[in-house]
Amino acid sequence: MPEQPELTIQGWGPRDATGTRAEDGDAGGVEASAFPDLAEVLPKAARRHLSRELGWTPRRTPPVPVTQIRLAPSRLAEDGRLRLAELLGEEHVSTDREARLRHAGGKSYLDLLRRREGDASDAPDAVVRPGSTAETAALLALCSELGVVAVPFGGGTSVVGGLSGVDADDRPSISVDLGRMTSVHALDVASSLVTVGPGVRGPTLEEHLERHGLSLGHLPQSWEFATMGGYAATRSAGQASTGVGRFDDLVAGLTLATPSGVLELGSPPASAAGPDLLGLALGSEGALGVITELTLRVRPEPRTRHYEGWSFRSWEAGLAGLQRMARHDLLPDVVRLSDPDETRAELLDGSRAGASLLRGSLRLRRRAAGCLLVVGWEGLPAAVRARRRAAASVLRGAGAVRLGRRVGEAWRRHRYAAPYTRDSLLDAGLLVETLETAATWTALPTVHDAVRGALREALGRRGKRPLVMSHVSHVYATGASLYVTVLADRDDALPIQQWLSAKRAATDALLSAGGTLTHHHAVGADHRPWLEREVGPLGVEVLRAVKQRLDPRNVCNPGVLLPD
Ligand SMILES: Cc1cc2nc3c(=O)[nH]c(=O)nc-3n(C[C@H](O)[C@H](O)[C@H](O)COP(=O)(O)OP(=O)(O)OC[C@H]3O[C@@H](n4cnc5c(N)ncnc54)[C@H](O)[C@@H]3O)c2cc1C
Repeated sequence: MPEQPELTIQGWGPRDATGTRAEDGDAGGVEASAFPDLAEVLPKAARRHLSRELGWTPRRTPPVPVTQIRLAPSRLAEDGRLRLAELLGEEHVSTDREARLRHAGGKSYLDLLRRREGDASDAPDAVVRPGSTAETAALLALCSELGVVAVPFGGGTSVVGGLSGVDADDRPSISVDLGRMTSVHALDVASSLVTVGPGVRGPTLEEHLERHGLSLGHLPQSWEFATMGGYAATRSAGQASTGVGRFDDLVAGLTLATPSGVLELGSPPASAAGPDLLGLALGSEGALGVITELTLRVRPEPRTRHYEGWSFRSWEAGLAGLQRMARHDLLPDVVRLSDPDETRAELLDGSRAGASLLRGSLRLRRRAAGCLLVVGWEGLPAAVRARRRAAASVLRGAGAVRLGRRVGEAWRRHRYAAPYTRDSLLDAGLLVETLETAATWTALPTVHDAVRGALREALGRRGKRPLVMSHVSHVYATGASLYVTVLADRDDALPIQQWLSAKRAATDALLSAGGTLTHHHAVGADHRPWLEREVGPLGVEVLRAVKQRLDPRNVCNPGVLLPD
């Protein structure tokens, strides 16, 4: 695995023809001209289809050059900077433009829009890099004393405004970059436990584990960049979560540095010593402190992998098939069921899985109104064989038609590709964003209809219609997640308001229909107005009380999780 390049200050940036992410060049980020042309990321048929569907005319709407991004002077007082430098070392405290821009916000559509418009008002006043739990705890205590907000920064891939550093009191903020804490501290092979620093990224950890015949198996689409601390802080779910579990399930213990001291949480393999305090840290999004170490459950590296495609006649039939597999405990490790709109888009996308689908799966093309299911099994060959046979009989019984391995393998090969096209689509005047939820099997069809209806109404205007594509990708005995991708013609005059009103409508609709506020992206700044609808007023008060005890000066990422 080559060394991971840094993220650009835009989205994912481009990939070259070999599938490797292109280098950023100068540290200021990538100019619009460095991105592949729209024609390179979207084949002609897809461009035509989108123009027709959305009422969109491709046009050049490049971001402002990096040099013209507006950045206010750092508000960190010189004596505060000196105190931080005294604690961490001068070389680990930066107030320069480049460091601050690189830590400005995350990767949501709104984050990208703001930066494309030259707005870096969410940039921190300084970036600091602690090297240990003790240093991080001392840093948070110092922030409390100085009245400086501390926002933990892992891979910077938040898509819910988790890094915006919003503070009702408008205090100076620092980004606490965990990039120095990237070691694998210990591996207990007998107990299947690995202990790591919070800044470790997926590829590095998998490479380390592979040398011992082990794997973590947490593979979100942001895998190349996101970190272990970020996964725990947001309760992430990877593409194989149906089999491997969510990241919450993989955390056996962690260390949380807070302004009030250090908490060591989790007692593997299991304990009944009262409520599980580990659950308080999972999903805490930096609002209670900084996760400085994690002990994770690992598994043997799979000896074989088998991915294949199936086709259902309809979305309802597909959901019924998954539900039946779930009920009989026959779920594959990877499950991804696309609705008819997403299936059609997959078929048109000649640059990715779609090309192989078209070549290898005429049956699916004939059923263009149908739904594509990708399933994958990993593990010991005999177990994979047996599980595959049992699942196949359930799928056939539910009316699915097998499309074969080529479809599944094409999906697996291109599983990280989609985000690399996003900047080019934005350059061409499109709105591109995703949202996600989860619902019980009973509520899922209603939630699907409600979200689509709300987005179509909010984004439809004179001759324009959004394309709303959904899939289920994390399946439980009780229900499943729903992941929605939206493409629409961007309102060039008011792009931020356009998305804010669509997001508000979609969130209201999915909550009213019985969906959860989020399945794996977390609350961040974007979802916090709705938290009370999910956990209730008393639930919010309990969280506030915990925060008050651990972070009495409210310096730990005050802009996320808890409503104002
Ligand atoms: C293209 C793309 C694809 C994505 N795909 C997936 C997916 O498949 N599944 C999924 O679950 N998510 C996905 N995400 C969302 C994102 O990658 C996850 O939320 C991820 O867990 C964030 O990790 P990070 O290291 O980048 O954290 P950051 O973005 O740096 O931080 C996220 C939040 O956690 C806090 N935080 C970070 N590190 C720590 C720490 N050590 N201690 C305390 N708080 C901390 C931050 O302050 C922030 O509030 C995707 C995002 C993008 C842009």
